[in-house]
Amino acid sequence: MSQPPTSLQIQNGTSSALGSPYINGPVQNISTSSQVPVSQGYNSQLTGPYPHLIPAKTALNPVSGQPNYGGSHMVSTLSNCQRPGQTLNRAPMASNPVTASFHSGPVPRMSPPPSQHPAATPMPSGSFLPGANPPPPLNWQYNYPSPGPQTNHCPHASSQPILSGNTDLITNHQRVSSGDPSLQNSYLKSGSAPPSVNPPLPTTFQPGTPLGPPPVAGPPPVRALTPQKSSHSTVPQPSFNSAINQEGGAPHTNNESMVTNNTYDEIEGGGFLATPQFTNKNPKMARSVGYSYPSLPPGYQNTTPPGTTGMPSSSLNYPSGPLAFSQTSLGANHLTASMRGLSLHPEGLRVINLLQERNMLPATPLQPPVPNLHEDIQKLNCNPELFRCTLTSIPQTQALLNKAKLPLGLLLHPFKDLAQLPVVTSSTIVRCHSCRTYINPFVSFLDQRRWKCNLCYRVNDVPEEFMYNPLTRVYGEPHRRPEVQNATIEFMAPSEYMLRPPQPPVYLFVFDVSHNAIETGYLDSVCQSLLDNLDLLPGNTRTKIGFITFDSTIHFYSLQEGLSQPQMLIVSDIEDVFIPMPENLLVNLNESKELVQDLLKSLPQMFTKTLETQSALGPALQAAFKLMSPTGGRMSVFQTQLPNLGVGALKPREEPNQRSSAKEIHLTPSTDFYKKLALDCSGQQVAVDLFLLSGQYSDLASLGCISRYSAGSVYYYPSYHHQHNPVQVQKLQKELHRYLTRKIGFEAVMRIRCTKGLSIHTFHGNFFVRSTDLLSLPNVNPDAGYAVQMSVEDNLIDTQLVSFQSALLYTSSKGERRIRVHTLCLPVVSTLNEVFLGADVQAISGLLANMAVDRCVTASLGDARDALVNAVIDSLSAYRSLVLSNQQPGLMVPFSLRLFPLFVLALLKQKSFQTGTNVRLDERIFAMCQVKNQPLVYLMLTTHPSLYRVDNLSDEGALNINDKTIPQPPILQLSVEKLSRDGAFLLDAGSVMMLWVGKNCGQNFLSHVLGVQSYVSIPQTMTELPELDTPESARTVAFISWLREQRPFFPILYIIRDESPVRANFLQHMVEDRSESALSYYEFLLHIQQQVNK
Ligand SMILES: [Zn+2]
Repeated sequence: MSQPPTSLQIQNGTSSALGSPYINGPVQNISTSSQVPVSQGYNSQLTGPYPHLIPAKTALNPVSGQPNYGGSHMVSTLSNCQRPGQTLNRAPMASNPVTASFHSGPVPRMSPPPSQHPAATPMPSGSFLPGANPPPPLNWQYNYPSPGPQTNHCPHASSQPILSGNTDLITNHQRVSSGDPSLQNSYLKSGSAPPSVNPPLPTTFQPGTPLGPPPVAGPPPVRALTPQKSSHSTVPQPSFNSAINQEGGAPHTNNESMVTNNTYDEIEGGGFLATPQFTNKNPKMARSVGYSYPSLPPGYQNTTPPGTTGMPSSSLNYPSGPLAFSQTSLGANHLTASMRGLSLHPEGLRVINLLQERNMLPATPLQPPVPNLHEDIQKLNCNPELFRCTLTSIPQTQALLNKAKLPLGLLLHPFKDLAQLPVVTSSTIVRCHSCRTYINPFVSFLDQRRWKCNLCYRVNDVPEEFMYNPLTRVYGEPHRRPEVQNATIEFMAPSEYMLRPPQPPVYLFVFDVSHNAIETGYLDSVCQSLLDNLDLLPGNTRTKIGFITFDSTIHFYSLQEGLSQPQMLIVSDIEDVFIPMPENLLVNLNESKELVQDLLKSLPQMFTKTLETQSALGPALQAAFKLMSPTGGRMSVFQTQLPNLGVGALKPREEPNQRSSAKEIHLTPSTDFYKKLALDCSGQQVAVDLFLLSGQYSDLASLGCISRYSAGSVYYYPSYHHQHNPVQVQKLQKELHRYLTRKIGFEAVMRIRCTKGLSIHTFHGNFFVRSTDLLSLPNVNPDAGYAVQMSVEDNLIDTQLVSFQSALLYTSSKGERRIRVHTLCLPVVSTLNEVFLGADVQAISGLLANMAVDRCVTASLGDARDALVNAVIDSLSAYRSLVLSNQQPGLMVPFSLRLFPLFVLALLKQKSFQTGTNVRLDERIFAMCQVKNQPLVYLMLTTHPSLYRVDNLSDEGALNINDKTIPQPPILQLSVEKLSRDGAFLLDAGSVMMLWVGKNCGQNFLSHVLGVQSYVSIPQTMTELPELDTPESARTVAFISWLREQRPFFPILYIIRDESPVRANFLQHMVEDRSESALSYYEFLLHIQQQVNK
């Protein structure tokens, strides 16, 4: 039964109603602390805006006036790299096997336009394009508002041109999605209600306990049902590998000739969540109150307010680590709702007055809450680093969820590098015949031969092969199979899971070689990195590689085995790009390795004298797409300026004096060219990663679409220059190493299923939603995160546990088809208090950030900021009025949400959402890309950095890793109050670290760690710690190195003193302090309190 879609109500935040004090209010006292006498300078930049503008040596021509060189291309060898070379005749069109057809490849089926299925199409998937979403509701919906027919990513109902062909990608979600067509007649189709023949039964999960009669020797007689019988009539001996490196092993290419007409949707299988039943929702306005801020005394300095003095410093010592749940050891099947809530740690039940307890930040990294489950279930649960939910106690009805005013959603890091991953090789992958869920630790075995799906409750037979446990080599123990003992597992996929033979790893590099690009010197770095890492590229003997360079023309490189040197082919017709000699441009890396190395050594020198300032990025991308279409693969594009020639040419849009405005900034793409091309790429299993190395505005809002919709990534190196900005060079080299050598999955799809009654309606991340809920990921990498929003469609009153399962089907770089499955189990609760107690504040903040990026684009930055603030006000108001029995003064919050206001304030000060003149447009867009694409842990670190005192590091509580001692200093509040002039403090903001050295910092630290004589001899731009032969240096270097090793990107380290230009940037990260355009934490709390108590 669907509940009325009342959802989080947000003010209709017109800018005027915002009240100027909040957005751009006067800063009454810029100096944030008398303790740290710093000069004013909040406007100074980390690096000056666009410091490396490189004058064009020739005047730019208008795009329309470009000479068309006609259908000719030139060839020159690298020994003669002065263009032009020989002119060849155009290759016959027929030699190009590629068409730009939208439907070639694995999306062969046409489907009706989405308008025929208005009720079944989900919310646009995490899009931050304006045309991709309907006009936003006045209030922020946590719930799906069902505004009418929608296509997921594609623009519609907007002024943006409708993408031709895009609707065809939306396949009909109601298609039967069994992986084995032969089974379809026997079972209820997905999308239907749970099978009536198997009504829901009480959960009878009994981990570790054999059910049914004791196993007899030898396998029992085979039952009638043998799934996947089409290609596996025999029952081979299953093998189970607990592989540390799951990439190992021989290529799994036994189906080279297999051709099926399936789509990935059918292969991966559908589920009943593919038919969400959205009802029309009428967002109601609950509040229409303008902001009015508490007046603060002039000169208010973010100090402890009167009446709250004397907060003991011991409040720093927050209990770290998971809350300890202690339950009596009952069988999991005895778990009842009445038991829940009793086992919470007393600390977790505390109600906190934030106005009195000002420092709630734990001294160690905040741990996610542990779901209130029986320990037998919880010990099998998925690692929260991989899969977590905003609410670890799921409300049993949408009405209850609506009351809590908290967003319900999942945050995933599905392809994370894992030290240990069980890998199952078996011809029978056991899945529910109704909803296609993979068997997992939270199913229940009714007896030895039957298991009940924990998502749709269908009772399934246990296949014969599954009766054998390869770990114990015993028959009759299906419940002890690795699939039932591990919430995270990987399957080697049999041929049913392939649409075509697994593709080879294909890497194509596309380099900007215009004058501007050469001037930055990036090509040397990138080519050198490639040379260094060529043998580490994930792949096998089938790996292919190719290169394209471009300026106003496009240059290909023939690397055919047998050539004495690479051959350059220049195509000057950018209007209708064709591929010369396509068979020699993407070559086998092993066979042509020497030619590839030759090319990489000579490329940086080939264009040093170029005067060409124009950039035909769009045509180059089209060429690259054509080249890769037959196979799919990864396209890595390096661009250094605004493309200004041919299709996809862009114009400058940034107006520096409008940066401060909360409206009127260009967050939306100016052309749909890049998005269209990305969708073409997605259809051909090509992902595009964009490396933008530009000191000038490059319209990342438009360019970024090429990666966003093709499941690529965006890397941004503002003001990259090999001489002027050496730290960026270091950063690029380190990150390229990671990029080139990390694990990669090709031609991937991901589907997330959840227990019947719950419904997924909005996706966030970089991908394309191919059918209702199937995410198309031409590439998947271990550093990408995803989020989804959910609602409670049907009451879960008879349900005690719900489960969520993500399944990622991909081709490994070794050519194996694999499926990585994560399953998360959570309890269902019936009271609002329990919902609040189980709230995961980091996951909530992360999901809200994703939603706010969407809101920025569909509405405005101001709207998004309002929505963030209102999320805090609404949930705390609900807590105050509906949970707390006695109304106390102050700002009362449940323990679980004690950091909610702080994290939301930090989001408001994050680059994506901050106001003020500091943020350049491309930097803001990049920050938004990061919100969408980063795993939660990095998003939170970027938003709320960690601050440590490092001049007194000790070995107390230190970690010991590989015989190295890693100090673990406590995390401090982000306020200058925590700084002192006699110390040194490290701010770790994810992609950047700043080591602030106080004026009176002890000589010990200066000489033994920094290696300088005195404070004044600290260099203005110091970006590296010397490795000195002192214990202090060893500790500091070990700590910073350890922090860096935790993440896939390379944080630049700035060592700063008060005169440093980076100092202002450091102070901006002090999110608890008042800044030019934002409240201090205490002011923010007062504002929240005032709104909550209305
Ligand atoms: Zn099922």
